[in-house]
Amino acid sequence: MISIIYPNSFKAGIACLATHILLTHLSKFGYNVGAYFLENYHLVRGASTIFITLQYENDYFNAIKIIRELREKNPNALFVAGGPCVMENLHPLEDFFDVFIVGEIEDSDVMDKVVRRDFSDSCLYIPNKTKKVKKIYPKRLGIEDYPIKQMTHEKGAYGKAFLLEIGRGCPRRCRFCLARAIYYPPRFRKLDDLIYLAERGVKESKVNKVALIAPSVGDYKYIVELCNYLNELNVQISPSSLRADTITDDLLRALKLKTLTIAPEAGSERLREYIRKDISLEDIRNAIELAKKHGIEKVKLYFMVGIPTETEDDIKELISLCESIKKEFRKVEITINPLIPKPHTDFENVPFDIESKRKIRFIEKNLKNVKVEYENFNSMLSQAVLARGDKKLGNYLKISKNYSEFVRYLKRDKVLDEYLKGLKAKTEMEL
Ligand code: SF4
Repeated sequence: MISIIYPNSFKAGIACLATHILLTHLSKFGYNVGAYFLENYHLVRGASTIFITLQYENDYFNAIKIIRELREKNPNALFVAGGPCVMENLHPLEDFFDVFIVGEIEDSDVMDKVVRRDFSDSCLYIPNKTKKVKKIYPKRLGIEDYPIKQMTHEKGAYGKAFLLEIGRGCPRRCRFCLARAIYYPPRFRKLDDLIYLAERGVKESKVNKVALIAPSVGDYKYIVELCNYLNELNVQISPSSLRADTITDDLLRALKLKTLTIAPEAGSERLREYIRKDISLEDIRNAIELAKKHGIEKVKLYFMVGIPTETEDDIKELISLCESIKKEFRKVEITINPLIPKPHTDFENVPFDIESKRKIRFIEKNLKNVKVEYENFNSMLSQAVLARGDKKLGNYLKISKNYSEFVRYLKRDKVLDEYLKGLKAKTEMEL
């Protein structure tokens, strides 16, 4: 018996393509596989191998709780971690897992080998043993491992939708972006494959909605053709956020959106250039104009603060950009969080800006009619530490039930500032 665990709610887990891919992939090898979430992981018994996919740093607290409980009930099980967080920085988790798989598993038999206790592949990291690890990834994204029949539910983050992955990796060059670094090189699926997957997926998963999955959906060359085809299938389309410079008349006509979500990331042109977001004020204005033309009711914008070289003027420009958009739209929402410097990016050795909290409050205070959302600051601190921290963090993870406790213990021992300064862990990792 093999188990796959998403260490968070069912709702979040079924909105994660990895959950579905792992199930399909392992079933192909003839294993009896089950998927589990926070709500039902306690049912895992007699498993030989337990795979836990790590998509977010703050899921580590749940993952560790799950491992502790399941080690007792599954004394012979091997606990294996995978997912983007493992590619990012596996070191804080070394005390908890037996094996880490670094990379993307499709088109390989590495998971099957791990189940059979063959640890010879170079993408495997075994704590206290491995010196050098090399990411594994499929050169092309085929349809063999693609989950056609997916678990869906109204409560899923995308609603009752079939997840259609258009591509993986990103052809853009944003300096802060972890997705770009770990999923390099970018790979898009063939239009024919996507049409085939969508048609069968919608039928077999019994849904009438398709969620398009890719770091930058609008960069897909055949995005309009794909959306037109999905319209013919009579299904609703839900894209993840779009780059402002990929928004066109044809695309908006095909997508039929009620809300336009774009991520300028920085408010000023200067700062956007600095992070190489490659989106100009003109691109943003053009996207807003097109959104108005297509009757879109709401605009959602994503920003970061705490970007290196940021000044008060940049923050003021962010505020005036939002105010000018608010003049055009009745409903404007912004989500603003601190930049979390990630390993494998240009900012891996940049300190986390603890002034971010003050900056976010300032923006919120000055944007009267715009809904401003942001994450809990301790959650951001915890992510920043875990993204670049070393193995010693395992001692703090062991005693912390959640990110607030984790940050509290780091502060108590006066090590938080040190962990926020820069990269602490360096694996010999070939990404
Ligand atoms: S466009 Fe988005 S996914 Fe691509 S590199 Fe920039 S931030 Fe990353």
